[in-house]
Amino acid sequence: MNSTFLFLGTGASAGVPVIGCKCAVCTSSSPFNRRLRSSGLLKVKSKQFLIDVGPDFRQQALHYQIDRLDGLLLTHTHYDHIAGIDELRIFNFRMKRPMPCLLSKETLQDLLRRYYYLFEPNIEGATLSAQLEPHLLEKEFGSVSFEGVAFGVLTYLQAGMRVNGFRCGDFAYLSDIHDFDEKKVFEALQGVNKLVVSALRKNPSPVQFTVDEAIAFAGKAGVKETWLTHLSHSLDYEESLPEGIHWGYDGLEIEFTV
Ligand SMILES: [Zn+2]
Ligand SMILES: [Zn+2]
Repeated sequence: MNSTFLFLGTGASAGVPVIGCKCAVCTSSSPFNRRLRSSGLLKVKSKQFLIDVGPDFRQQALHYQIDRLDGLLLTHTHYDHIAGIDELRIFNFRMKRPMPCLLSKETLQDLLRRYYYLFEPNIEGATLSAQLEPHLLEKEFGSVSFEGVAFGVLTYLQAGMRVNGFRCGDFAYLSDIHDFDEKKVFEALQGVNKLVVSALRKNPSPVQFTVDEAIAFAGKAGVKETWLTHLSHSLDYEESLPEGIHWGYDGLEIEFTV
């Protein structure tokens, strides 16, 4: 069976349209220019994993009929990547267990501070909040087995914050990348044919790749096909991209090999 990745959201932190914005992309009638906050659903070996759980997660879960999750992979703790975490409660009811969650120590520490109640025992007979079962990443790079599936782990920086990217087979998902160790990152991406990487806009950003930087990154990594995600309202789906580079869009599903 083929493994797939479904783009649940491809928008930057504010989503597209941006509240109150009248720009050409925000008022565009193209569904390809409507972007919920970035997140994705990995289907591999009959399991389903969510990558990030942003503020639009409830809408995404309803729209794509996600009725089961075998685990959550978290890249980092900025609002647009974790704000839907409380919505996972419904999966605890259904699975009758805490949600396995693959994350770094820094990510867990921040969650413990901001969502302390997710880690407190429930009152018997009532599930008051979502429950997480943390699986800590021991190393910055390498591979881990999570819920029976092998994932590659990458670590890079966004404005001093450590962020994790994940690899599965010949697929890799790298969001919110800006500064990184070239040797380690490109080594970890060897053999990747399908890459999802974030690109915020065309103008430089201190915290995200521009479109050109993301294209150059994909070229250096030597991947065959790349999809851009985490896109702001300054980027129009109708604009053409170089061969092998595509705009990610909400609802797009791509296949990869494990
Ligand atoms: Zn982000
Ligand atoms: Zn706009």
